[in-house]
Amino acid sequence: MHTGNSRQMLHVIESEARLTAALTGRWSFDPRVMHALESVPRDAFVPPQIREFAFANGPLPIGQGQTISQPYIVALMTDLLETQPSQTLLEIGTGSGYQAAILAQLVRQVYSLEIIPALAIQAADLITRLGYDNVEVRTGDGHLGWPEHAPYDGIIVTAAATHLPPALLEQLKPGGRLVIPVGKPSMAQQLKLLEKDLKGKITARKVLDVVFVPMTESGLR
Ligand code: SAH
Repeated sequence: MHTGNSRQMLHVIESEARLTAALTGRWSFDPRVMHALESVPRDAFVPPQIREFAFANGPLPIGQGQTISQPYIVALMTDLLETQPSQTLLEIGTGSGYQAAILAQLVRQVYSLEIIPALAIQAADLITRLGYDNVEVRTGDGHLGWPEHAPYDGIIVTAAATHLPPALLEQLKPGGRLVIPVGKPSMAQQLKLLEKDLKGKITARKVLDVVFVPMTESGLR
């Protein structure tokens, strides 16, 4: 069985956006986001033996006990960032590199942190082979962020955090947006959108219940 192509994937994302609109406040996603989802080859980011499911609207295993997120969730989180082409973003949880590649289509520069070295190396290699030259991947603990390139216009966390890492709030630019699933690892988490206003004041909004792999605490801290 083959589960379609990126165009069919977009239709499913569009219908799920409408179904969840009452919760998310978004009936549809920015056409730039949808274009990025159409043009990044998701099948390149999943292991060969499950490639036939690459365009199904579900998460998939990518090895090391980790998953590539569901396309609808990638679209929603990317849309919530409200990116502009001139921006610099930070991603926590590179995983397969798929979300980083989507962001690379939308902004000037993407920095992505991954705690499992083998995944970081594999994702960086794939992203380079696909021709993106504006993504930098590093092994590290996302709880600490990536201070060298801060502040960021937007930060996206693609693993579930038990709390809001203070370093990430610090590394967010005034006017910036942070999208993060927060909650207990064994349960559904709440996807949150935090906005830092120009005076540095943070407001938070709960968007949707989601399930992510946990953000691990590490000895790197
Ligand atoms: N964005 C990814 C999917 C992420 S899965 C994609 O598009 O494929 C979550 C990833 O977060 C996993 O690869 C996991 O190893 C990583 N992760 C978990 N805890 C982390 C931490 N503390 N810092 C950085 N990455 C972490």
